[in-house]
Amino acid sequence: METSRRNFLKLGGAWALGLAILPAVKGFAANNPEHLVNPKAMAGKRWGLVIDMQKCWPRYQAGCRRCFDTCRREHNIPDIGNKKEEIKWIWTEPYGDAFPDQQHELMAEDIKNNPFIVLCNHCDKPPCVRVCPTRATFKRQDGIVMIDYHRCIGCRYCMAACPYGARSFNFRDPRPYIKELNPAYPTREKGVVEKCTLCVERIDTGLPPACVEVCPAKAITFGDLEDPSSEARQLLKNRYTIQRKPELGTHPSIYYIV
Ligand code: SF4
Ligand code: SF4
Repeated sequence: METSRRNFLKLGGAWALGLAILPAVKGFAANNPEHLVNPKAMAGKRWGLVIDMQKCWPRYQAGCRRCFDTCRREHNIPDIGNKKEEIKWIWTEPYGDAFPDQQHELMAEDIKNNPFIVLCNHCDKPPCVRVCPTRATFKRQDGIVMIDYHRCIGCRYCMAACPYGARSFNFRDPRPYIKELNPAYPTREKGVVEKCTLCVERIDTGLPPACVEVCPAKAITFGDLEDPSSEARQLLKNRYTIQRKPELGTHPSIYYIV
């Protein structure tokens, strides 16, 4: 275990008294909009995505993987080359796995057989946040569910609590497996959990998530779900959309047009 995290465990008593917090990576631990220093930072009450799979599929079938590749490059996501140790922030699942409770035997073939883009749902009621003993995982006031890598002690309670498999664990030092290092983004270390952050580093400088920006099909729409005039809300109003496992009450902030 890394020294900093071992020290953190020693500080457990002080934490209980609300006295101790380890220094956090600037910008990543901010859970209060008052901490946002960039005047261009986007302000929202509940950021979310609407993913139009009908727009994505033709490109995906033609080999487009720009959202995945860009996310990997932007966030220094390692390619371990081993499914069991895979670190994934945005990936695909078959319909039956992504929406197990929303299928029937006579479903349209294109829906049943096509892959669905999945990522952390930035749930409005995130069970991962509820179970984290060190508060390494927290929800910002704008709805983004974050992990402070410095506070994560690798207990993986959050992974057990997430019903979407949206979190990955670094079983080994990921750094040797990063193909193209982005020096502007932190790398992680062995023993910490990670996942999609909805490109918080971009939102806090006035830019949409990278997957939204690079998609040539404009299949992913980003917006404030609490703002009735946002593009995302307009899509939700006018198109039929579904969420993953809504019956669990986590209130995902990622919606799908199928
Ligand atoms: S999808 Fe999983 S990791 Fe993401 S907020 Fe929901 S419960 Fe947490
Ligand atoms: S970049 Fe757009 S079209 Fe390409 S795979 Fe991602 S969502 Fe689909």
